[in-house]
Amino acid sequence: MPPTPLILIGAPVDSGKRRRGCMMGPDAYRTAGLAEALTGLGHEVTDRGNLSPGALPEARPPREVLHAYAETIAWTGTLAQAAKEAAQAGTPVFLGGDHSLSLGTVAGMAAHAQARGRPLFVLWLDAHTDYHTPMTTGSGNLHGTPLAYVTGLPGFEDFPPLEAPVPAENVCLIGLRSVDPEERAAIEGTEMEAVDMREIDEHGIGKPLRRFLDRVEAADGILHVSLDVDFLDPAIAPAVGTTVPGGATFREAHLVMEMLHDSGRVCSLDLVELNPFLDERGKTASVMVDMTASLFGRRVFDRPTRSHG
Ligand code: MG
Ligand code: MG
Repeated sequence: MPPTPLILIGAPVDSGKRRRGCMMGPDAYRTAGLAEALTGLGHEVTDRGNLSPGALPEARPPREVLHAYAETIAWTGTLAQAAKEAAQAGTPVFLGGDHSLSLGTVAGMAAHAQARGRPLFVLWLDAHTDYHTPMTTGSGNLHGTPLAYVTGLPGFEDFPPLEAPVPAENVCLIGLRSVDPEERAAIEGTEMEAVDMREIDEHGIGKPLRRFLDRVEAADGILHVSLDVDFLDPAIAPAVGTTVPGGATFREAHLVMEMLHDSGRVCSLDLVELNPFLDERGKTASVMVDMTASLFGRRVFDRPTRSHG
């Protein structure tokens, strides 16, 4: 079981890209019954409401293309602090907000893990690698940069200094299917484990995840999960600005969540990129609530937990 209570933290971050709407995400999750679903599973749940970014720094963007640079820097500091504080009291669940919120949440969780003397592992469930830096992003959208920041790449000098960079070998990306050649080369030059949909089609989604969870277990690590709506196939989760066909199916995604629950290693979760403005009668918000419930113990069929030992 994850540390209790589950702490819901609204992070209405909308600065990581140009298309607006993710600021409505936290309230969409609330409306879709996230707290009730988790309480119904026997968890103690507290909702700390929504954060707002601190004062904007003076920072001038080093490149003109960078969108909402100072605002994203401000959010990063606020979220890192919130993650560190909440992690001492339970399991933070960040209700996004776009994926730029993970610059802060992962940085904060890494600092928390370091203070506890535990290695932090990060599971990135996403169609994209999010491994650009402010110097390399073509779009200027900083929601494409969190993995570069938290693993300590240069180019983030205006951002809060990282207390504890996450070692690249502790990161696993699953669900990739929209990766340009430069991004692919950049990822392949690291120790990160990158699992694309081709591999999932050939071998199933359980195998690479099992491999990664075994590593987390062997290192006695704790695990931060960052769930981008676009990990899911747009047929079940259309409310995202970056839909890419061929994503995880309902069954694949639930298997991932159930395996994560069984691992007992999840210490924190980001729910990111939900844009309720693009949703169909709350369909995507509801699917994300179902995923979260699955991660925290809901089962379609009850069966004895498989022994991993
Ligand atoms: Mg993403
Ligand atoms: Mg994505």
